[in-house]
Amino acid sequence: EHIANQIAAGEVVERPASVVKELIENSVDAGSTRIDVYVEEGGLQLIRVVDNGLGIDPEDCETAFYRHATSKIAHGRDLFQIRSLGFRGEALPSIAAVSKVQLISSNNDDGMGRRIVIEGGTFKVNEDIAAPRGTDFTVQELFYNTPARLKYMKTVQTELGHISDVLYRMALAHPEIAFTLRHNGNMLLQTVGGGDLLQVIAAIYGTSSAKAMLPIEGESLDYKISGYISRPDLTRSNRNAMSTIINGRYIRNHGLNQAILRAFHTLLPINRYPLIVLQLEMHPSLVDVNVHPAKLEVRFSKESELNEFVENCIRSLLKQQVL
Ligand code: ADP
Ligand code: MG
Repeated sequence: EHIANQIAAGEVVERPASVVKELIENSVDAGSTRIDVYVEEGGLQLIRVVDNGLGIDPEDCETAFYRHATSKIAHGRDLFQIRSLGFRGEALPSIAAVSKVQLISSNNDDGMGRRIVIEGGTFKVNEDIAAPRGTDFTVQELFYNTPARLKYMKTVQTELGHISDVLYRMALAHPEIAFTLRHNGNMLLQTVGGGDLLQVIAAIYGTSSAKAMLPIEGESLDYKISGYISRPDLTRSNRNAMSTIINGRYIRNHGLNQAILRAFHTLLPINRYPLIVLQLEMHPSLVDVNVHPAKLEVRFSKESELNEFVENCIRSLLKQQVL
């Protein structure tokens, strides 16, 4: 309980995109190399995430829906050393409480698995079923039993936009995983896996944008930096095209963005913004991911050193290009 109180409480399921995010995070944590996402009507009708990960032991499929039953946190200090994406053990129970869920999972190569159906938090089915290794998770009629929340949803296009953003972030953070996103049967995103970040950038931003990018490289005692930044002479101005990934987790940090822009704007007009995908590796003790329940915001223990490091790396890279 004490440890549970250390974890920022918050609404896990705000909209369809939150469900997609939680399900994909579980698939990533399970070591999947393929993750296929199907949505209908902006995710309000159907969200289905199919992965080829480790799967869930048939005996554990039901308990996965009990709050905190599977939380990976053993000690309070682990909050500062989180590597896997999930750590609160409350996503599945929260999702199952406000939708109609079917889980099919197998953790073996015998072709057998378990099927669970839950509607509005009530268990309906728990049976053996033939299934390939991996997990196939379907969420139907999200918020069907919480009409107040349902009324709050925006248009199909708006909800789909949020879902696409989740897929973009996950694909950028995990170029080693092959992702697909389909909406009402139409393929919206397809990455091939295998670890090629530039291919992911091409899939999201287009081939010509990907061709106009420079590789980022750098290392200090505490930090390792890699990724891609748009060539200064070919740069477009889109403020939202800045992505930062820390230890395989897509994050948002104002200070880091400012550091990037300072480097960029010493060489280029102030009204232009880079397309950048920045990957940072650091010891988990140097970053606190538990600032916000949505886990997008982070805090750094050596913030000014990090910002200076990033600013200097990018400035010297761009200088070489401009001169
Ligand atoms: P958390 O991710 O914080 O542990 P969740 O409620 O998201 O909590 O998931 C509960 C548990 O169910 C996970 O810890 C994991 O053991 C299992 N699980 C959920 N989805 C998958 C999946 N796609 N593949 C394998 N195991 C899964
Ligand atoms: Mg999870």
